Amino acid sequence: MRVAHNLSDQRLSPGLYIVATPIGNLGDMTVRAIEVLQRCDLVACEDTRVTGKLLKHLGFSKRLWRYDDYSDETARARLLALMQDSAVALVSDAGTPLVSDPGYRLVRDAREAGIAVTSLPGACAAITALTLSGLPNDRFLFAGFLPTKEKARADVLAGLASVPATLVFYETGPRLVKTLVALAAALPGREVSVARELTKLHEECRTGSPEELAAHYTAHPPRGEIVLLVGPPSSAPPGDLDPDTLLREALATLKPSQAAAQVAKATRLDRKVLYARALELGRP
Ligand code: SAM
Repeated sequence: MRVAHNLSDQRLSPGLYIVATPIGNLGDMTVRAIEVLQRCDLVACEDTRVTGKLLKHLGFSKRLWRYDDYSDETARARLLALMQDSAVALVSDAGTPLVSDPGYRLVRDAREAGIAVTSLPGACAAITALTLSGLPNDRFLFAGFLPTKEKARADVLAGLASVPATLVFYETGPRLVKTLVALAAALPGREVSVARELTKLHEECRTGSPEELAAHYTAHPPRGEIVLLVGPPSSAPPGDLDPDTLLREALATLKPSQAAAQVAKATRLDRKVLYARALELGRP
């Protein structure tokens, strides 16, 4: 892929530009991302070799500055000082910066300093997996990487068990089977999807129970990058049903107070609010 126009001599206004890059397929680089990388004064990145390769592929080079949120305060302060009269782009190795990647502290400090911050949307593994999995997506909770230690992982899963939403985790091949076994114990009966190598040649999205998937991936150890998704508890309303629909169905056979109690149990919404709504819906 080559950049169609040479924009490198047109400078951007000073500030911080958060630029998403592809998660595997270089065709997912947006036109705006290419333009900003070409026109900025400096690119702050996790790994200068990874970003250097991407820019080489795009057909230009830039001044690169290694940055992560653990870089010392002095490095961050120098970067912020540069943003006063330079355009600084922030990229991570892949995908959207700040999503399980560095940048949060830099953005927070830039905003506090009154520096203009612009975010350029693009590829993100969590969102790509969510759209591919077929699991309900009206509510989701992104939980990043689970802890590696067994007890800490079990505690996090126990804390998430009753969340009425699809859960999205980042995972690695070597840990996948252990995590699936932990899921079977902590969140039994939930539908799980494993989305692997998204946007790449060997992209795969496999759905089943944690037990089925653990058996499959024990027999076929997974390679590459993985997003793990867990469907909501069965008591959560399916994505295409809203509380009004559930109330209307319940009101066909039950009194408003009973209908509200039934829907409150299914949705974990407030019973009094549902009762008031049931009265409204029941009015002629
Ligand atoms: N900022 C990135 C984003 O926007 O998705 C995520 C960075 S995080 C350090 C890296 C993790 O994202 C990987 O370990 C994997 O769980 C997930 N990931 C990244 N690319 C992926 C891909 N192509 N397919 C599946 N998962 C991917």
